[in-house]
Amino acid sequence: MKLETIAIHSGNRIDETTKAAIQPITLSTTFERGADGDYPGGYIYTRSDNPNRASLEDVLAKLENGADACAFSSGNAAGGSVFQALKPGSHVIAPSDMYHGLRNLLLQVYQGILTVDFVDQSAIENIKAAIKPETRLIWIETPSNPLLKITDIRSITKLAKEQGIFVCCDNTFATPVLQSPLLLDADLVMHSTTKYLGGHSDVLGGALITKEKSDFWQRIRDIQGLSGAVPSPFDCYMTVRGIKTLPYRMKGHVENAQKLAEFLSTHDDIEAVFYPGLPSHENHSVAASQMNGFGGMLSFLVKGDEQAAKKVANATKIFTQATSLGGVESLIEHRASVEGPDTKTPVNLLRVSVGLENIDDLVEDISLAIRTLKN
Ligand SMILES: *Cc1c(COP(=O)(O)O)cnc(C)c1O
Repeated sequence: MKLETIAIHSGNRIDETTKAAIQPITLSTTFERGADGDYPGGYIYTRSDNPNRASLEDVLAKLENGADACAFSSGNAAGGSVFQALKPGSHVIAPSDMYHGLRNLLLQVYQGILTVDFVDQSAIENIKAAIKPETRLIWIETPSNPLLKITDIRSITKLAKEQGIFVCCDNTFATPVLQSPLLLDADLVMHSTTKYLGGHSDVLGGALITKEKSDFWQRIRDIQGLSGAVPSPFDCYMTVRGIKTLPYRMKGHVENAQKLAEFLSTHDDIEAVFYPGLPSHENHSVAASQMNGFGGMLSFLVKGDEQAAKKVANATKIFTQATSLGGVESLIEHRASVEGPDTKTPVNLLRVSVGLENIDDLVEDISLAIRTLKN
């Protein structure tokens, strides 16, 4: 089956008793045992497994060409389970502009348990130089947040294989529609399903998908059930529902983002635009070689200072000024103020999640907002 078909059918099970065409939400936390003490329905207790979660994990594994998937209550819970599965003392190589929530998780919660080096992953030499005998994990995020840097997945997985190091790719920005890290030899893929997979900014969730069922994967499966950061049946239902339209939504996001990036890149009051679909992007050709479309996220620098950038963000009418991304509605955000005082994000940077509104309305809205700089 192709992606569009998987997205619609792999997360759904027709109900055997009522023949409901759309899988109902199974709220029960517990499941009846058979006379012989086993579990004829295949389920025991909802923290361990639940029909809605099983369906979500099915569709996620198939979309990413994986052997299995674990769904979590948030993207951070998913990422954190990988860190938790590592042996204490392990060394992790992570990107210098890693999603700040996961960066803080590593620095605050795993301090003293894991050691971490944050390196600019847009060049393989930087990763080579950071490898130590105790390096167990290379964490990739591509395109990255918020600078839309591109990491060459193939060259990193090749390097990691030679040294016996695990590679996990945060595929949140690209989605399984635009990028398949497991086919490029990554061991694990991580998603914040809160973003494009859910797609409507109304359900939090995360996921890990594995290329093969290994001992390390079994540890993650155990952590999912024992630590218990699992999504509710309703969250699973909502995410499965969102995924059905994912392939078509991504086409719209990519088309709109490309047009908005082109408009901004010719604007006199914009200093720089970061979007992998622009030929001016430093790793445009790497992005073209590993992505089927350049995504719906972009960021840009407003000419001027922090106040100028904030003025533009405040002046938009259709773009909602809010954090997060991947919903049908466009969002704009002054990123440095979300990331806190020690951020390295330029103070005049605005990050945009380009939604599915008509592109002419989006271009007009942002162009009028930029014009307020002249007032
Ligand atoms: C949002 C996000 C996360 C964290 O996911 P939550 O669902 O908010 O916990 C991780 N990585 C990236 C790239 C994200 O955008």
